[in-house]
Amino acid sequence: MTTYKCFSCIAKINSEDLNKRFLCPKCGARIFYKSRTKMKTVKSD
Ligand SMILES: [Zn+2]
Repeated sequence: MTTYKCFSCIAKINSEDLNKRFLCPKCGARIFYKSRTKMKTVKSD
């Protein structure tokens, strides 16, 4: 699954959500960039 990030508010958005409407659900911006889905888990003790 591709995850996008809003260029404006940096919210993570799934590509499924963007299929419905290409808008950021949080701020309404229309500029996105693809972000790799890093599944790094950083544990801070
Ligand atoms: Zn946004």
